[in-house]
Formats: sequence, C-alpha cells, structure tokens
Amino acid sequence: MTQDLIILGAPGAGKGTLAVDLCPALGIKHISTGDLLREVIASGSPLGQEIDGYVKSGALVPDDLIGRMIKDTLAADACRQGILLDGFPRTIPQAELLEKILADLGRPISAVFYLSVELDRVIRRLVNRVSCQQCGRPYHLINLPPRQAGICDVCGGVLRQREDDKEETIRKRFATFLEKTQPLIDFYQNKNLLVEVQASDDPQVALNFVLKYLAR
Ligand code: ADP
Ligand code: ZN
Repeated sequence: MTQDLIILGAPGAGKGTLAVDLCPALGIKHISTGDLLREVIASGSPLGQEIDGYVKSGALVPDDLIGRMIKDTLAADACRQGILLDGFPRTIPQAELLEKILADLGRPISAVFYLSVELDRVIRRLVNRVSCQQCGRPYHLINLPPRQAGICDVCGGVLRQREDDKEETIRKRFATFLEKTQPLIDFYQNKNLLVEVQASDDPQVALNFVLKYLAR
C-alpha cells in the first residue's frame, strides 16, 4: 500500500529530524522542498539567485514556482512507494494544488502530522542547528551533537549551518509560518487528516508516536 504523508510545523519544529528517521523505517521517499530549493540555489543559476532572495529574507518562494517543482518531483519513479512531504504545502493554494495532483494519481493523503512548537524553543534550536550537506540529517550542537565535530554520524558528510538560521531571519520565518501556513491546520482538521504529535526535545518521542499511530 502506498503511504503519502505530510509533516506540518513551524521552522525548527523538528520536521526534518522526524523525516530522516521515519522515511527509511517506512520505505517511503522524503521530499523536502527546502532541500530542493537549496540545491537550485547552490547551482548558481538565474533561477537559483531569484530563489535565494526569498529564502534569505525569510519569505516564501512563490506558489507557482514551488508547484512546478513539486509536480516534477511527484511524477518520479522514486515516489511510487509513498512520500513524506516536509515543508510542503505551506499555503492554502499549495494544499489545493497538492490535492489535485494526488487525485490525478489516484493517491489520497493518508495523514498530516502536526508538530507544534513555540518561538523561544525554535530560536534555541535553530541558532545551534547544523545539517549534513549529503543526507540532510540535522544536528543540534548542544542537545544532539555529532560524535565527531563537523561530520555526519550516519553518512560521514560535512555539517553546515544554514544561512537563514540567524535569529532575525528565524523570527521572520516564524511570522511567515503564522500568517501563511497555520491556516493549513484547520484545513486538514476539517478533512479529518490532522494528527497532532506530542512535542518533545527528544526526537525519538515523535518518531515512536508516529510509528505507533501508523501501525494502529
Ligand atoms: P524550515 O521549515 O526550517 O523553515 P525549510 O528547509 O523547509 O526550513 O525551508 C526553508 C525556506 O525555503 C523557507 O523559509 C522558504 O523560503 C522556502 N520554502 C521551502 N518550502 C517552501 C514552500 N512549500 N513554499 C514556499 N517556500 C518554501
Ligand atoms: Zn549525513
């Protein structure tokens, strides 16, 4: 059975951390629109430069651009067994577009996991966050440090801090979440798809909660 899941939450809520553990466990594909956008930015193309402007300022990239990117991605073979969307949808128009794409593929959304978190905690987490350039796994320099400084425990990739993980940009991203993305909580609740995940600083707690929910 294909399993198409969404993780919803503010920046720093723990979406990426949950995703990198959950996807191998379920055999589904992790799709992070943030990671996809950072790849385009790293290419240095004119489109990458345009995207960089939005991301650096803590704003969202326009819906039509994300829409094209996500359509191409979901059509790929690697997504046949199921997907976990991390960072998409982030606006009501994006959620409506996703419904249409999945309906065309005959694949309804199975569940939307919502990770709630408050701003203070987000700042404490993100200013200390580094992530693996190769596999995307996030670390926290104090609470969840890598065994060897600067190196990913899992794949040996190099750890980097994200350019948008500065306090001022984090505050702007959080405000963008409240304005543009928070309405999705009601949107999915009304469709009976929303599952609120118990908040914790221990990533294992969220992972176990979700695995238990899916096995019910
Ligand atoms: P976080 O959830 O920690 O903010 P992401 O890696 O998901 O990190 O996103 C980083 C940035 O990429 C966002 O601040 C935004 O500028 C852009 N972005 C990611 N996903 C989307 C999306 N679905 N729609 C618009 N912009 C997006
Ligand atoms: Zn890694």
